[in-house]
Amino acid sequence: MIAIIGSGLAGLTAARHLAFAGHLACVFDKGRGPGGRLATRRGGDVMFDHGAARLTAKRPAFAAALKLAVGAGTAARWPVQSDSFVGVPEMKAPFVDLPPVVRLHQSVRIMSVTEDGGWHLTDEGGARHGPFRAVICTVPPAQAADLVPAQAARLHAVRMAPQWAAMLAWDGGAPVQGDLLHPGGVIETVQVMASKPGRPAAPCAVVLHATPDWTCAHLDLTRPEAAQRLLAEAQGALGLDLPPPDSAHGHRWLYARCEVPLGAPFLAVAPTFLLGGDWALGRDAEHAYESGLAMANAVIEALPEPAPLG
Ligand SMILES: Cc1cc2nc3c(=O)[nH]c(=O)nc-3n(C[C@H](O)[C@H](O)[C@H](O)COP(=O)(O)OP(=O)(O)OC[C@H]3O[C@@H](n4cnc5c(N)ncnc54)[C@H](O)[C@@H]3O)c2cc1C
Repeated sequence: MIAIIGSGLAGLTAARHLAFAGHLACVFDKGRGPGGRLATRRGGDVMFDHGAARLTAKRPAFAAALKLAVGAGTAARWPVQSDSFVGVPEMKAPFVDLPPVVRLHQSVRIMSVTEDGGWHLTDEGGARHGPFRAVICTVPPAQAADLVPAQAARLHAVRMAPQWAAMLAWDGGAPVQGDLLHPGGVIETVQVMASKPGRPAAPCAVVLHATPDWTCAHLDLTRPEAAQRLLAEAQGALGLDLPPPDSAHGHRWLYARCEVPLGAPFLAVAPTFLLGGDWALGRDAEHAYESGLAMANAVIEALPEPAPLG
């Protein structure tokens, strides 16, 4: 059995790949559902992709994964953004359908990893999980440094930038049109959800992402304040005079995008204890996919004989 910490794209990719090689994988995540930063928030009829806006593939492995997902109906091209795909009906959809030998344990925060006749994980409630033959850890670098203090210097050299997201909805009409806009100023992107395949056309739902610089300067805003400030900034940048939204929520991503990556697909604490995620290679979902794949391959190489099933 292999333990995977984190059910974001890197962890899900590693789990799937290990399962196809005959390994049992047990995935632990502190969040309520899988997907990590491939996040979509739902409220009634409205949906917001407040994490990753789109999926792009520059290299063959992720391109093949997206092509398979398009064939399966869990991803689609984003019209107009011809190089971009989105998960359907939500961003994580292409990656969450896992083979049955993968066990997902959500709402379990892992606090420590120890080696004692195999790898053991201890969660927030003090429960001990294991023994595992290998551990793949895909949490952000600052949190990985808490789990592996001996690697703190290398992990703290990796830089992640924060990002505020505003989720706005208008019940009637469509005050904002378009696809993925880059208005400039402190607004990095404006996403009109109805332009994405599989999202409801109404109510009109819009996600604004602030630039990392603005976010750093406004980390302490409350969520409603951040949503209102970003709306005002977006109106200014786009030259719009919008009616007040019927709902406005903010979400602060403390570790949104990697600015200075590790520079390798993963960091090996031991041949069977690997740390990775997007931050190992770069800032995009494709980097998370590639890191997850590389860690699974390294474990398959270190443990050529999968444990017998049952
Ligand atoms: C606002 C925003 C916009 C983005 N836009 C784009 C975009 O347009 N295009 C693009 O390609 N990429 C984009 N990205 C980046 C993309 O979302 C990430 O690269 C990718 O999702 C990272 O996957 P991951 O598995 O490496 O990490 P994550 O998705 O962060 O997964 C890590 C998981 O670890 C869990 N975890 C953390 N600590 C613990 C613990 N102690 N115990 C258990 N579980 C733990 C977390 O809950 C999380 O689920 C964006 C990200 C954000 C936030």
